[in-house]
Amino acid sequence: MSSHASKPGQPAYHSNFIRQRIEADLASGRVKAIKTRFPPEPNGYLHLGHAKSILLNFGLAKEYGGSCNLRFDDTNPEKEEQEYVDSIIESVKWLVPEFDGKALYASDYFDFMYQCAEYLVSSGHAYVDSQSADDMKRNRGDFTHPGVDSPYRSRSAEKNLALLREMRDGKHADGAHVLRAKISMTSPNINMRDPALYRIKRATHHRTGDKWCIYPMYTYAHPIEDAVEKVTHSLCTLEFEDQRPFYDWLLGKLADGGLLQHPLPVQIEFARLQLTHVMLSKRLLIKLVEDKVVDGWDDPRMPTLAGARRRGYTPEGFRRFAERIGVSKENSWIDYAVFEDCMREHLNEIAPRRMAVLDPVKLVIENYPEDKVEMMEVPNHPQNAELGKRHVPFSRELWVERNDYQEKPGKGFFRLFPGNKVRLRYGYVVECIGYDNLTDTVRCKYLSETRSGTPGADSVKAKGNIHWVNVKHAHRAEIRVYDWLFVVEKPNGIENINLASLKKTY
Ligand code: ATP
Ligand code: MG
Repeated sequence: MSSHASKPGQPAYHSNFIRQRIEADLASGRVKAIKTRFPPEPNGYLHLGHAKSILLNFGLAKEYGGSCNLRFDDTNPEKEEQEYVDSIIESVKWLVPEFDGKALYASDYFDFMYQCAEYLVSSGHAYVDSQSADDMKRNRGDFTHPGVDSPYRSRSAEKNLALLREMRDGKHADGAHVLRAKISMTSPNINMRDPALYRIKRATHHRTGDKWCIYPMYTYAHPIEDAVEKVTHSLCTLEFEDQRPFYDWLLGKLADGGLLQHPLPVQIEFARLQLTHVMLSKRLLIKLVEDKVVDGWDDPRMPTLAGARRRGYTPEGFRRFAERIGVSKENSWIDYAVFEDCMREHLNEIAPRRMAVLDPVKLVIENYPEDKVEMMEVPNHPQNAELGKRHVPFSRELWVERNDYQEKPGKGFFRLFPGNKVRLRYGYVVECIGYDNLTDTVRCKYLSETRSGTPGADSVKAKGNIHWVNVKHAHRAEIRVYDWLFVVEKPNGIENINLASLKKTY
């Protein structure tokens, strides 16, 4: 692998087979500028796998001075909804600051797709098949058996065109006919055995309403969508590799007929993201929401972009993750810890710190004046002074974590136990006297010369450093502690859900 010199202000990155292909196409002049696209089907919210594809497509476009489209692949009228469209636009905007929010729709090309179909029929490259679905399936053959020509394969172009128009005009029942490409029923690649191009389906589309009762198949629609938008490099996941010959066949035929212009888009496949402890199947995610296993698509435990955002994860964390895992031609599992690491690394740099006590026990400083309040200066970030400081009130009674106190300390425990000294973070060093059962309080006395930030701060050694909040000034809050939704490494489904993935304290 070769690597570029890093650009100023950007991390070094490695070349890969996609970048090499793009650079070769630019160098040879096959394309003048590159254009990519991210083509979600609006049938669910975007998930972490989509993030990989979004950052790859928008990232390459930016890197090579090209552009990237967000295009809804809305050719399947069932299961598609406006709510999904809106959430997808929102998520892409969040993840990609340079995205202008403009979305394109495959359904806007339905007229052109149909025009292409008429051309393919007229030029003898497509025909209407009237076999039953069962016969069609049987006659397709399989990996070891060649397919068999449909008895309708030799219909004349005129007859096919008349039938196609009747299909479009609603003269035939759902499933009565299918428009198929005429390629070869004996191709070793089953995808080339006269794939279906159009089916009859009476369904209301979320954008075109009832205008159409025939809808294009994904494999037919997608290459045309790319070509219409003058996409140069169409990136998709590995399972589409066997579709590539049809992608090229179709665009080649339409270009021969003058319906498309060169340069035609090329399809390049990469490995999909698979993360341990996560399920990225839209069907499962929809079920989690519908069955109220989680509290919506943006539940912080959901592997959706909306969930990640609510969890506090950042677009920059996603970019680091995408760069770290790279792209490959081999499907593999990425450990969820790698993803969390990228997020933690970025959050560690930017997140302002605050003190909160989740499981409180009261600590009383017996030699500290009853009504005294001292304002302690506390940095918002331990390393980054630019994030500023704040003042936190300190007084005689504080809340500390219950597990910061042990009557009989275990090995390596340096916090509160009788006779030990510990620093109250950004406050004073206190010495623990003991614990009072009756009032459930930890008793302490403070060493008045040890206030943080003063010359005496280090005059007394304390190994432990614990956080606290002032009883008088504390605010009550509901704290939600989220764990992984799946503790098993490769979950199979809803049966593997971690029922303890959300704990609330008040
Ligand atoms: P469906 O089964 O509903 O088609 P999908 O995950 O393919 O699910 P799409 O909306 O079609 O969903 O995906 C949009 C784009 O995101 C596609 O280009 C697809 O290749 C890419 N994509 C989807 N899942 C992943 C993944 N896990 N890793 C990388 N890219 C993905
Ligand atoms: Mg898909």
